[in-house]
Amino acid sequence: MRFTIIGSGTLVPDAERGSAAFLVEEAGARVLVDGGSGTMTRLKKIGVDVRELDGGVYSHRHVDHCGDLVPILFALKVGVELPRARDYPIWAGEGFQGFLDGLYGVFGSWIRSDRWSTRVTELPLDAPGMAMLPGGVRLDTLPANHSAGALHLRFTSPAGFVALFSGDTGPSENLIKLAAGVDVLITECAVPDKDPWDSHLCPDDVAAIVDAARPRRVIMTHLYPGTDPVAAIERVARVGIPVERGFDGLVVEG
Ligand SMILES: [Zn+2]
Ligand SMILES: [Zn+2]
Repeated sequence: MRFTIIGSGTLVPDAERGSAAFLVEEAGARVLVDGGSGTMTRLKKIGVDVRELDGGVYSHRHVDHCGDLVPILFALKVGVELPRARDYPIWAGEGFQGFLDGLYGVFGSWIRSDRWSTRVTELPLDAPGMAMLPGGVRLDTLPANHSAGALHLRFTSPAGFVALFSGDTGPSENLIKLAAGVDVLITECAVPDKDPWDSHLCPDDVAAIVDAARPRRVIMTHLYPGTDPVAAIERVARVGIPVERGFDGLVVEG
């Protein structure tokens, strides 16, 4: 399985870091995970045409994670050289179908086709969820401590390699549970200090989660400009597990 960071940034414009987006590849299948604005261009820069993707998984419905959904569906619909004839399945938390229906209400036939459909599989927001993705990757989810239907996403390859993406979240027992012993934990570290709304993680929170879950490797992403990356990495590194800051184009394979 190949897990690529397409966008390691936030909603704040940044020339080097796109909004949240990742790519999971296994056995020739390619599934987009999240996709804020600019995802299509960033994918193309690494040679991936969005019109050839096998589906999309969404951690939640905030715009920095799903802003390119409408452009993607428009590209699938209009694709001049590559008219699509197969479905574009989507996996996301409960409520996503209603969200998509709202987008259809605005954009109508510009983003719908009778040649393919977006089959949405909704995963529970109050219990564990599981789905099999193209390429035989298993997706396990637990509800995150955020909003907008947020989930933690764990990807397990047929060979047993495990990559976990926290999604956006505050401190979360579910994250510790799902991240226990994984090969790589890709976690948000959005805020510099304790978030009074408990909807994002600060370096102390990430360190506590890493200490409890003991993943083999940690990649921090989604740092807002106020979060000092050097100090954040130093804080988490004290736990004694390899930690680095993710960047657009970083590939994890196993
Ligand atoms: Zn969010
Ligand atoms: Zn976010």
